[in-house]
Amino acid sequence: MAWFKKARKPLAPQEKASRVPEGLWEKCPECDAIIYAKDLVKNLHVCHKCDHHFRIGSIERLKTLFDDERWDEIAPGLRSNDPLRFTDTRPYKDRLAKTIATTGHTDAVVVGVGRVEGIEAVIASMEYSFIGGSMGVVVGERIVQGIELAIARGLPVIIVCCSGGARMMEGALSLMQMAKISAALARLDRARLPYIAVLTDPTTGGVTASYAMLGDLNVAEPKALIGFAGPRVIEQTIRQKLPDGFQRSEFLVEHGMLDLVVDRREMKATLGRMLAFMSAKPSGPQASKPSGPQASKPSGPQASKPSGPQAPKPSGM
Ligand SMILES: [Zn+2]
Repeated sequence: MAWFKKARKPLAPQEKASRVPEGLWEKCPECDAIIYAKDLVKNLHVCHKCDHHFRIGSIERLKTLFDDERWDEIAPGLRSNDPLRFTDTRPYKDRLAKTIATTGHTDAVVVGVGRVEGIEAVIASMEYSFIGGSMGVVVGERIVQGIELAIARGLPVIIVCCSGGARMMEGALSLMQMAKISAALARLDRARLPYIAVLTDPTTGGVTASYAMLGDLNVAEPKALIGFAGPRVIEQTIRQKLPDGFQRSEFLVEHGMLDLVVDRREMKATLGRMLAFMSAKPSGPQASKPSGPQASKPSGPQASKPSGPQAPKPSGM
């Protein structure tokens, strides 16, 4: 016999049909402005009032960067096959299948080749909705295939980072992607082709510790969280209060970790100027330049030559 018994059923919530359709309005988390969803899309998901940058998906991102919103996708067929047969709260295999079904993405990055302001380029764009944008073997392989295509065709590379770090369900294999992508970027550097890292909210963990910080230019969106460990973990470790704005883009520019903070609405034009400045010529005849064989040659002495001084200063961009 139960001592306490709920005599009455709780009131059922009054289902009153709303006349406003779902998703017609968005609320800005910064300034609480209510924004008409279509206006938000038109403004590239940036708040008109306070310039808060909403997080956007990989496909939307590529649409904001490629001319005519067109690109050819690289290695779309790759899938993770759960090499460690990993299980946490549920099997990784199930988690993958469910994420693929709900997000419509097959992994946490989309890589495409197209044109940015008329300049042919490879862009990899990370997808945060896919297991926190985590870097696993598919992310690594897609990005490397993109870089290799860029080397073969003499194209610049842009990686838009948005990630919580390495994918723990793939253990050490996910950590190896840091080295794998970094090595591919070193080959790109040897082929004297530019690489620009675009850091968006959030860029943390193993992604920050590898390709996100390896750009010839590292640019970020305003107020993006960028760091290796999160602020809470650091505070608990060093037992000190962190300064205001710590690990935000503006703070990192002030402290020399980044080159530039760029508003999303200016990003495409800025990247176009940077690519033109770094001698990525408007494409066409340039593709026939025989940079392929030179790239694959293991050019030892040339490789060790510091490319630092040659790297352009981003002033005025
Ligand atoms: Zn706002």
